[in-house]
Amino acid sequence: MDSKGILSFLKTQQNQITYLYENIVRIETPSSAKTALEELAAHLDTYLNAMGLNVVKHCYENAGPSIVASTKATALPPILLCSHLDTVHPVGAFGKDAFIRDKDNPDKVYGPGVYDTKGGVVIAIFVLKALLHFGYTKRQIKLVLVSDEEVAHNLSQGASAKLIEDEASGACCCFNCDSGRLNDRIVLQRNGGGIFKLKVHGKAAHAGNAPWEGANAILAASKMIAAIAELNDYNDAYFGAGVIKGGTKSNIVPDYCEVTNDIRFKTNAAYNDALAKIRTIADSNPDSRIHAEVEATGLFRAMEKVPKTDALLDHFADACQELGYNRPTGVFAGGCSDAAFVTYMGVPTLCGTGIVGDNGHTLEEYAFESSIIEQAAKVILTILTLPDDF
Ligand SMILES: [Zn+2]
Repeated sequence: MDSKGILSFLKTQQNQITYLYENIVRIETPSSAKTALEELAAHLDTYLNAMGLNVVKHCYENAGPSIVASTKATALPPILLCSHLDTVHPVGAFGKDAFIRDKDNPDKVYGPGVYDTKGGVVIAIFVLKALLHFGYTKRQIKLVLVSDEEVAHNLSQGASAKLIEDEASGACCCFNCDSGRLNDRIVLQRNGGGIFKLKVHGKAAHAGNAPWEGANAILAASKMIAAIAELNDYNDAYFGAGVIKGGTKSNIVPDYCEVTNDIRFKTNAAYNDALAKIRTIADSNPDSRIHAEVEATGLFRAMEKVPKTDALLDHFADACQELGYNRPTGVFAGGCSDAAFVTYMGVPTLCGTGIVGDNGHTLEEYAFESSIIEQAAKVILTILTLPDDF
């Protein structure tokens, strides 16, 4: 199938694209709205089943479901498409009707997830639909949709991130249909992020009668905070205390102090290295009555380049050019995305093949609906022209 055939097929799907896009934006799905996410997942489950895909739904106690929809497996390594169903916005944040068209430019739409990243969900589905229509059977295509991306997979206790890693294992490449950048930019690398808690235990004592019998956990924690801050070079990994709590009354030597810290990192190695150094500081207390633990939670890995990342971008850029679009530029992004879990498995990934727009995570979030067909066409042609030995 050539570039003209791809675009003309997608144009025949315009009404269905618009219908699906409006529908899934109107089902408002903040990460914590489990019932709404179940409703959306049920809707997509039916839709993907009707396309003839094998659909498996994964359910969790506190998070909305994850969906894996696949075509038939073949001898060649599969291709992964990813996106997420949850948004950051509380229900009703955009008003009564969540799908809003710009009065002057009907192609520009506003609403919760129009950009981040329900437009991307539609793109991934229509990539699959087109490949099925063209009779593509060379490689298995797997679509993975999760429901707690925006809360660092905490609601499923990391299970949805683990699902992405499991599905990515052995894949030849991945297109993460998350928010597409303006000006033809494709994300190749991203910061990772996480939280680590410093939990310091001391010994309580009466502050007036026998303070020397106590071991002050707040004082010990503050020395550790200062030592940890000394490590911070703002380059490969940077971190800092954000919340502190400890003590009960001013006349009691406090036996507990807890410090919540944010950590950001360019590489997963830098994260491991920083955490090891932080643990060493927590372990080295001159007072043997002080005991400290470092608890790492909410980890979003860093999206890293793998050996074939640049080659994948080249194939994608050739497809863009063939379709009459600009060749994209590969960029680094500060924020986290699920692409990180795929690259962690060594799979080359392009992130930001979702709908084009801007202002994600704000009430000014917008997207250009026409970019659904453009972005889908780029991914379809890349897949159709990917060499067997990639
Ligand atoms: Zn987001």
